[in-house]
Amino acid sequence: MAQAQKITPRAKDFSEWYNDVVMRAELADYSPVRGCMVIRPHGYRLWELMQRALDDMFKATGHQNAYFPLFIPMSFLAKEAEHVEGFAKEVALVTHTRLKATGKTGAQAVMPDPESALEEPLVVRPTSETIIYAMFAKWIQSYRDLPLLMNQWCNIVRWELRTRLFLRTTEFLWQEGHTAHATEAEAEAEARQMLGVYRKFQEDWMAMPVITGRKTESEKFAGALRTYALEALMQDNKALQAGTSHNLGQNFAKAFNMQYQTAAGGLEYVWNTSWGVSTRMIGGLVMTHSDDNGLVCPPKLAPVQVVIVPIWKSEQERGQVLGVGAQVKEQLAGAGIRVELDARDSLKPGAKYFEWEAKGVPLRLEIGPRDVAAGQVMTARRTGGKAPAKLDGIGGEVRKSLDEIQATLFQTAKERREAHSIRGVTKQQFLEFMKGAGGFAYGGFCGSPECEAQIKQQTGATVRVLPDPEFRSAEAPTTCLWCGKPSVAEAVWAQAY
Ligand SMILES: [Zn+2]
Repeated sequence: MAQAQKITPRAKDFSEWYNDVVMRAELADYSPVRGCMVIRPHGYRLWELMQRALDDMFKATGHQNAYFPLFIPMSFLAKEAEHVEGFAKEVALVTHTRLKATGKTGAQAVMPDPESALEEPLVVRPTSETIIYAMFAKWIQSYRDLPLLMNQWCNIVRWELRTRLFLRTTEFLWQEGHTAHATEAEAEAEARQMLGVYRKFQEDWMAMPVITGRKTESEKFAGALRTYALEALMQDNKALQAGTSHNLGQNFAKAFNMQYQTAAGGLEYVWNTSWGVSTRMIGGLVMTHSDDNGLVCPPKLAPVQVVIVPIWKSEQERGQVLGVGAQVKEQLAGAGIRVELDARDSLKPGAKYFEWEAKGVPLRLEIGPRDVAAGQVMTARRTGGKAPAKLDGIGGEVRKSLDEIQATLFQTAKERREAHSIRGVTKQQFLEFMKGAGGFAYGGFCGSPECEAQIKQQTGATVRVLPDPEFRSAEAPTTCLWCGKPSVAEAVWAQAY
C-alpha cells in the first residue's frame, strides 16, 4: 500500500510532487468534468477555516455579505469595453433551457431543444462586477448611500483547458468584494486597505510571506484603473499571485450609470473597488510549506491540529492508553484545539503516523504504556523534533508548540524567499537567474510594454508587481534592466503560475 502511494520527491518533479501531495492529503480529486475538480472534506475544511478568518476581517472593516445571480446577461459584459475583451475568451454560455429526446440511444438520446434557445444567452459569472453594479446603480441615490461595502462568497467559471488542482480549474470558489465610494481618494484607500487585509491573512494565518505592490498596465484587471496584488514565492521559485485588489475608478460607474446626488445637490459618478482571493490560496499554502512526506499545514488553518496516537501491545495496555488518550482529547478540545484520537485497531502506529503526516497535521501526541506510567506523552512536530510533555498542563504545552510551528513556518518561508531574490540585476545576470533556479528579480523598469513582452518571450518572466515602498531596494535602480533607458519604477520579475 505504502509503495503505490509514494509521493514523488520535490527535487525529482515539482509538478508531480504537488499533485501527489494534494491527492495523498485528500484535499481534492479530479472530476469526470474536464477542467473541474472535487474539493474533498479535508480540503473543504481548510477552505472553511480560511473563509471564517477572512470573513471576520471583512466584517471588522465594515463589509456585509450578499449574494448575486450566477447568470449574467451577455450584454452586461459588453458594457465595459476592456472588461469584455479581458473575459471574452474564457466564458461559459447558457444558450438553451431544455433538452429534447431524439429517439436515439446512449449519449445521443437527448439534444438541446432548438425551440428553447434563449433570446439573449447568459454568461456563467467569470466575475460579478457587471451584475453587482447593475444593482448598485439601483440602490445608490444620494451621498448618504455611500460608501456601499459588500462581499460575496461564491463560485466562478473561467474556461480553462489545462487543469492544475486548486491553481487552475474551470470552476473555483472565491470571494469578491465590491464597493462604491463618493471620492477617488476613498476608493483608493479601500483598495489599499483590502490589500492589507489579505496580506495580514496570508502572513498571519497561512504563514505565507507576500510582496505587495501595483500591477503594470499590461497585467492589470480588465476594466480597472489600478490593480494591486500579493505575490508569494513557491518552493520551485515560481511566483503565485495570491490575491488582487482593484481601484476601478469610474469605468463601471459610467457603464452602469451609478450616480449619486452630492450634498450640494449635484450629480456625480461613484468610484468603485473590487477585490478577491480564491481556493487558489490552498495551492499556495501547499507549495509554500509542504515536503516530501506530504502536506505541511500551518496550525491556524489545519483541519486537524493535533492527532493522538495510542500505542499498545496487550489488551490491558490498550484500555490504559485509550483511556488517557480520551482524557487528553477532551482537554485539548475544551481548550479550542482541533484534535483527533486515532483509536483504529486496523493500523499499526507507524502507518498512522505516515497517514497523518501526509494530511499535514502539525502535532502528533504518542501515548504508550511507559508514557502513561510517567505521566507524560511524546510530542512529534510535523516540521521535525520530538520531546516529552507532562500530561499535567498538556493544553498549554500543545498551544505553545502550535504557536511555535506557525511562527517557524513563516520564518522559514521568508528566509527561503529572500535567499531566492536578487536585487539591482544587470541584463546578463537577469538572463542567467531566469535560466537557472529563478526567483524574484528586482530591477529597473522603463515602463514600456515592449520590454515586458520581450522579457516574457525570452525568459518566461513577467512583472509580478511594482513593489510597495517597504519592499523596494535601498538604492533605487536608475536604468531599465532590459533596454537601459531611464527606469520609472523598480519592478519584481519572476516566472509565475
Ligand atoms: Zn526597458
